[in-house]
Amino acid sequence: MTLVIAIDGPAGSGKSTLARALADRLGLDVLDTGAMYRALTIECLRRGVNVHSDDEVSALARSITVTTLPDVRVDGRYVGDDLRRPDVNEAVSSVAALPGARSAMVEAQRAQAFASPRGLVAEGRDLTTVVFPDATLKIFLTADLDERARRRGDESRESVERRDHLDSTRLASPLRRADDARVLDTTGRRIGDLVEEVVGWLENTT
Ligand code: C5P
Repeated sequence: MTLVIAIDGPAGSGKSTLARALADRLGLDVLDTGAMYRALTIECLRRGVNVHSDDEVSALARSITVTTLPDVRVDGRYVGDDLRRPDVNEAVSSVAALPGARSAMVEAQRAQAFASPRGLVAEGRDLTTVVFPDATLKIFLTADLDERARRRGDESRESVERRDHLDSTRLASPLRRADDARVLDTTGRRIGDLVEEVVGWLENTT
């Protein structure tokens, strides 16, 4: 199987930063699944699709192609500047709670892993539990709420807390730590140290 490092954790825990740094260090691809749910949400809002209707959203998810490399696009149209729009922050956790929409996204995520010959670092909320249960290495990131809210900058602390609550209490693939995931608290830690710690784990795994 392709080498997969799967990282889950709440908003602002440092998943994207760690995933990119690990990918650079190890020569792997990155799969930012939060960006995929955000891109799907942008498309729902653009087309007036009801973000609470699983039928409507999953039909849309199956009819579009979301790519995240080298930048985030829906059917080739660049949406990178819209990913952190307030209305997207507001709606994305509703979209991500819909089981049919999730299965469409999970299929696309596994297809991207399959198409990555050098392996990948995949991050989000259900990568260690649902998308890649056999990942080479599983990591669950945490950090203090204050620091997480600070890292999110343009998103309010209330919005970060609200998304975390919705993401960890929904029925479909809630955010939770997999039993075999290593926990890494990134509060006050330097990215270089975090990368070396994970590389050490990987060397003991493979
Ligand atoms: O990681 P990011 O904060 O960009 O994720 C945005 C939202 O996408 C999350 O709050 C969550 O609702 C959803 N998401 C998810 N499953 C993933 C990745 C993101 O439900 N694997």
